Amino acid sequence: MKDFCIIGSGISGATIANILSKKYSLDVYDKARGVGGGRSSNKKFNKKESFDHGVQYISPKSAPFKRFINNLITKKIVKTWQGKHIFLNTNKKKDKKHLKIIGNKGNNSISKYLLKNINCTFNSELIKISNKDNVWELDLSDGTKRFIFKNQKINFY
Ligand SMILES: Cc1cc2nc3c(=O)[nH]c(=O)nc-3n(C[C@H](O)[C@H](O)[C@H](O)COP(=O)(O)OP(=O)(O)OC[C@H]3O[C@@H](n4cnc5c(N)ncnc54)[C@H](O)[C@@H]3O)c2cc1C
Repeated sequence: MKDFCIIGSGISGATIANILSKKYSLDVYDKARGVGGGRSSNKKFNKKESFDHGVQYISPKSAPFKRFINNLITKKIVKTWQGKHIFLNTNKKKDKKHLKIIGNKGNNSISKYLLKNINCTFNSELIKISNKDNVWELDLSDGTKRFIFKNQKINFY
């Protein structure tokens, strides 16, 4: 039995899983085929080419997020986007103020990095959650059940 189950391997699920994994046991489940399955997934055509399905780039604005992204730039997980926008409305000014960050190998790179040491199961949809005694019961689409302790108290530091 694990302390937590995280549903979803997008940027939100990956972030919370990464934080909690430092102190607790957990598993990640996603109904999609791979990491970032929802709005930051990346489809590979071949070894060199791939296509991002959701987020085009990230523009970090807050100081903590900038620090997080700078660390990922150093680790070559993400990089600055060097592409150009073409505006049909010629009055629109270019946004030169904010960095535009993309994944080094697709925009699911951040989720992949955050989940690299975490047990993830894909093609696994959560279809029901129920409560029995002191335990949460999770029903997955493959017919299996997972159990986690109820009422975990979390301290974020
Ligand atoms: C076309 C597009 C362009 C975008 N452009 C930008 C941009 O330029 N800049 C920017 O910052 N943001 C952009 N966004 C927004 C950004 O992509 C999202 O805010 C972010 O990726 C959401 O992450 P998330 O983890 O919250 O959700 P999601 O990425 O949706 O992740 C949720 C995950 O949960 C899984 N899931 C859901 N239900 C279940 C279930 N019952 N059982 C198991 N798994 C389940 C899904 O498969 C999915 O992988 C864009 C989004 C889109 C679609």
